[in-house]
Amino acid sequence: MTDAATTAAPLLEVRGLETGYGDLKVVRDVSLQVRPGEITVLLGRNGAGKTTTLRALTGLNKVFAGEVRYEGADIAKTSPHRRVAGGIAYVQEGKRVFRSQTVEQNLLLGAYSGGRRRSRLKQDVERIYETFPVLGDKRKLPASSMSGGQQQMLAIGQALMAQPKLLFLDEPSGGLAPVIVREVMQRVHELKATGIGILLVEQAVEASFAVADHVVVLDTGRTVLSERASEVIDLTVLQNAYFGKERSAN
Ligand code: ATP
Repeated sequence: MTDAATTAAPLLEVRGLETGYGDLKVVRDVSLQVRPGEITVLLGRNGAGKTTTLRALTGLNKVFAGEVRYEGADIAKTSPHRRVAGGIAYVQEGKRVFRSQTVEQNLLLGAYSGGRRRSRLKQDVERIYETFPVLGDKRKLPASSMSGGQQQMLAIGQALMAQPKLLFLDEPSGGLAPVIVREVMQRVHELKATGIGILLVEQAVEASFAVADHVVVLDTGRTVLSERASEVIDLTVLQNAYFGKERSAN
């Protein structure tokens, strides 16, 4: 965490968000911030409303009430595609890559809206390979030949091809072995150096806490804790209070 990051204006600021499905309100009072070059980790047990919150922030679910500000502008009613064009990318939980396409083809598909020249695309792909060297090693192979962790990195790489300023990641650790989770988290952590802001939804408390600048905990659709990670002194207290002891395995 740099001094610049702690003082930078928030990229995303959410206050008192209410959202849900149709008329059903499942998120009642969520507030959080994401600053450029920082990772905000959004934690909470199953059904707490984490994915629903992300869906509202991307425009897939309607904002019933509350404020959603991106780079200072109110985007609560902005369409999903305009949010994408404005620099917001979303890697959904269990995101599937195109398995029969090569790794490189998958990455190029992520740049669909950019209207970029071929030479520029090549540079952008190379930059993704620098972040995720395993993707470079396997660039000519079909995505189906990669492990679950590698496919997760490919899904993230594909989202990065759109050159977002703000990245939403929904449980990138899902279904991965702990050692692979740590590797994915390490790569996500390295992305901060590019200045991107990341909102990371996770159930893997310890692994995500290790890379967090800010921690937000949801319980039944409400923010019940929001603190700088450096101020959360005792992780065990946090785990026991909000997740029960069984969650500390990750
Ligand atoms: P998980 O970690 O299990 O993904 P979560 O914190 O992301 O949990 P959400 O998926 O946001 O939780 O779910 C919040 C609530 O919204 C749950 O009660 C869930 O049953 C409900 N819900 C989710 N999807 C829908 C839907 N399509 N229609 C109606 N209710 C839904």
